[in-house]
Amino acid sequence: MPQLPSHAHYVVIGAGIHGLSTAMHLARKLAARGKTVGLAGTRIVVLDKTAIGAGASGIACGVVRNNYYQPAMRELMAHCVSVWESDPEAYSYHPVGYMQISPESMHAQVGSIYEQQKAIGYESVFIEGEAECMRYMQGLLADWQAKNITSVLHEKRGGYANNMASLAGLARKARDAGVDIIEGVEVTSLHMSGGTGHVTAVATSAGVVGCDQVIVGVGPWVNSVWQMLDLPKTVTIKGRDGKRNDGIPMWHYMALQEGTLGVDPDYQKTNDGRMPPVIHVDTDAPLYSDRDGKLITDKMWGIYYKPDFHFGGVQGGAMPAVVDRPADEVRVDPYGPKSPEFVVTDNFADMWTSALAFCQKRFEGKHGVYRKEPSGGIGCFTPDSFPVIDRFRENVYVIADSNHGYKMIGVGDLVSDELLGATSALLEPFRFSRYAEGRLHPVSNSPFPWS
Ligand SMILES: Cc1cc2nc3c(=O)[nH]c(=O)nc-3n(C[C@H](O)[C@H](O)[C@H](O)COP(=O)(O)OP(=O)(O)OC[C@H]3O[C@@H](n4cnc5c(N)ncnc54)[C@H](O)[C@@H]3O)c2cc1C
Repeated sequence: MPQLPSHAHYVVIGAGIHGLSTAMHLARKLAARGKTVGLAGTRIVVLDKTAIGAGASGIACGVVRNNYYQPAMRELMAHCVSVWESDPEAYSYHPVGYMQISPESMHAQVGSIYEQQKAIGYESVFIEGEAECMRYMQGLLADWQAKNITSVLHEKRGGYANNMASLAGLARKARDAGVDIIEGVEVTSLHMSGGTGHVTAVATSAGVVGCDQVIVGVGPWVNSVWQMLDLPKTVTIKGRDGKRNDGIPMWHYMALQEGTLGVDPDYQKTNDGRMPPVIHVDTDAPLYSDRDGKLITDKMWGIYYKPDFHFGGVQGGAMPAVVDRPADEVRVDPYGPKSPEFVVTDNFADMWTSALAFCQKRFEGKHGVYRKEPSGGIGCFTPDSFPVIDRFRENVYVIADSNHGYKMIGVGDLVSDELLGATSALLEPFRFSRYAEGRLHPVSNSPFPWS
């Protein structure tokens, strides 16, 4: 493990998807400009309080998709998908495609996503009408039976990647490019200059590191680093009606609910023996328990799933649960499956396995093989649930992805351009100032906060 230096040109906090991607892209671009990266030249140091992949990136389901109702998100995701595609082996990326399967209330909005995907050259197929959707789905998976479905958007690109394997690939590439990754070192405070407020040094559990620039990619821990930066706990948002809404909390948490059905991943192969696309279904049909026939919900619901050898079964999730308390009162550590309070409950298992049976006959009666191990994790969300990617205190770059982010491997590429003086048009819609200025992203009818 490299030693903690007394000074680094770039200090990256967090060895998740964003910290590692930013460090790797930055190092490569510096080298392309003739700079030496490493001990004898420009130093890029990634610090992680635990280890590579100890946060959300290390437990993410790994879904990579373009399907977003917001044009800016879609364009950004198209760039990210091209980064996944640039080295599928190193990133452990499986380009099986992705399907958004929706009820009538989402038909028009998903149709507009399809039109805009065509406009940006992102290959997809759009099926409309209940009978046509059933035919299309049964042509892929003969036991398909989901009801109240009137549109299917089938993205031919995207798919999923294996969480820890992709981070290991990124870390390897970053180290090869001269980046130092130091695990087990926690950033505890930031030294700010009295005059401009820019950060001059990073105080850690192992000593102080002077720095020129800081990049923050701390996922669910962003509220704590936001406080170190002395940034506001609440924001004013100019609404679509032009009115100011004051005192909106900057951060809130939600618990992501995911689990695995312990069947052989081959069990979910398509009619022609291939691995299927990632499936995401939203519907307003009532959902009944596959265990006891009781009504689970008659409101709009949604799930996603994919066969995954890494998880050892069919893995996926459902809508996140609200963590109903102020961000400062949420205990982020211990994180993920180790958390005593934020792991999925039996209600999730019943809902998700019943939803699988609702979609495909092969899953009927399979609730008994649901893996009863702790799973899921919390995510920290911005006021509008879209990313904030911006510079603060002059030299601190914050990547707060509002939990959209494992798929966003390309953000580090764009951030590294900005660290080197460029401005990224793809990142512009994600500036913090959008709240005060009322430049808000459109909101979809999906039951998920990030669609
Ligand atoms: C259960 C679950 C499933 C998900 N599934 C998907 C999915 O399928 N597709 C998708 O696109 N997104 C998914 N997400 C969202 C995605 O995982 C996150 O948005 C993304 O991984 C965040 O990446 P990050 O690099 O910002 O942070 P993280 O991956 O959380 O990494 C942050 C790192 O910072 C370190 N750290 C924190 N504080 C400090 C400090 N003070 N000093 C030093 N180090 C520190 C932590 O140890 C951690 O390793 C999922 C999230 C969860 C919880």
